Amino acid sequence: MSKPRVLIVEDELITALDLEETLQRLGYEVSGVADTGTLALAMASQHPPDLVLMDITLRGSLDGVMVAEQLRKQFDLPVIYLTAHTDTPTVERAVQSGSFGYLIKPFDDNELQIALSMARAKYAVERELRQTQVQLQATVEALERRNAELHVLHRLASDLQLATTSGEACVAMVGAVREFFPEAAGLLLIHRERDGQIEPIFSWGAERIVSQAFPAQICPALQRRQLEARFDAQACAQCVREAFASTNEIYCVPLATVQERVGILLLHHPEAAQPTSDGDGTTAADRRRLAAALADQASLGLSNVLLRDALREQANRDPLTGLFNRRYLDEVMRREIVRARRENYPIALALLDIDHFKKINDNFGHSAGDAMLCSVARLLRDAVRGSDIVCRYGGEEFLIVLPLTNAEAVLDRTEQMRLTIKQLLVEHDGKLLPSITVSAGITTIKSSEDELQPALERADHALYVAKAAGRDRSVCVDA
Ligand code: GH3
Ligand code: MG
Ligand code: MG
Repeated sequence: MSKPRVLIVEDELITALDLEETLQRLGYEVSGVADTGTLALAMASQHPPDLVLMDITLRGSLDGVMVAEQLRKQFDLPVIYLTAHTDTPTVERAVQSGSFGYLIKPFDDNELQIALSMARAKYAVERELRQTQVQLQATVEALERRNAELHVLHRLASDLQLATTSGEACVAMVGAVREFFPEAAGLLLIHRERDGQIEPIFSWGAERIVSQAFPAQICPALQRRQLEARFDAQACAQCVREAFASTNEIYCVPLATVQERVGILLLHHPEAAQPTSDGDGTTAADRRRLAAALADQASLGLSNVLLRDALREQANRDPLTGLFNRRYLDEVMRREIVRARRENYPIALALLDIDHFKKINDNFGHSAGDAMLCSVARLLRDAVRGSDIVCRYGGEEFLIVLPLTNAEAVLDRTEQMRLTIKQLLVEHDGKLLPSITVSAGITTIKSSEDELQPALERADHALYVAKAAGRDRSVCVDA
């Protein structure tokens, strides 16, 4: 072990030399002898000692107490005072300056040895205490951060529970992500169960908006169900490359439950060049941990809301054609009629029925009939406006609700649809099915009517008239 180094600050040459010799005898190394405060500070800076012996009365502008204060402040050095004076104000100043010992001249070897040992021991304890304090402070700060994180995670869990639609759930999710990673850009993608595609839902801070869905199988993070920071040039091209210019510190966080894939959370942290720590003390490892905790918390909640959405959607749709069903029609028409009355606009209804549909089933089989129904449904869905509602009203009957449409316009549009259906070519089992015709019953909802039923009856009657008149035509029975 190397010898402890002592700096002597003493302006009486004889005393200094005597001290130097004594220290060496006691097993210390003298790092320097200074006779002024200025020189002492320079020496401490050049050859830092472990301890300083400081005469209080020095030549020059700085006295020993002042120098000791500087040494403590600048170099964190323990100082033992040497003095012939024992007057109270001097002692008081020395104590105030945080001294590690006080020796009254003249002193013997023994007294010096004890003072040096005690000062070193006290210094070691103080240092350890300071280190412990720093560690404690860091622990407290980490705990406070964790506490804040837990708070956000709990709030997210309850927001997800309260969310009534997947849109609301996604907003809650993105809110929590942005609280955790205010600097980061991100992209939230949701797995569509019905076609296995991953669909971008929300993006923030990204260079480009990604709107294209892509197959879940190509996403490595979702396949492996683990947080990925590596990129597969081919697989990630459609997702990451589009949204972010660089792939530095991007995390793909899979959102998944034991049973199913829910989506992907993509985070792009801008401070990738400094991998260790941010201003707030978070590191890349912290961010990965947080992202994973967030995914854990959100996946189940999101999956529940998505499931509820899917069930609601299923309850409103006809499983064969994907069109809305009667249940949905009743629900939506209650609101639609109220709005039309309040805002005074007409709603038209067109009830379309395939002519002699039974023959298709009889001649080509039920599945051919199904294929025909699906083709007609697709055609109708493509033919209407976004505000119109197409629903499968019965077996081979379709009801189209056209808000903001009068009798003349609905007749015109129904005729167009009818003629297009007539030209529809449907193939089934490699065979082209015979073309079909439809008959249509048309009406509008009267401004005095506050329910759907009377208008439905008029449309049905109009359809009956069309059938009776030879089919393949539209008949309007207006209010
Ligand atoms: P019309 O011109 O008088 O309307 O004659 P139509 O044969 O179309 O009418 P009808 O009411 O006699 O027969 C309707 C047929 O539609 C009978 C039924 O088996 C068939 N159908 C109803 N729902 C489905 C379905 O989901 N799939 C298939 N393939 N056929 C269906
Ligand atoms: Mg029919
Ligand atoms: Mg029918």
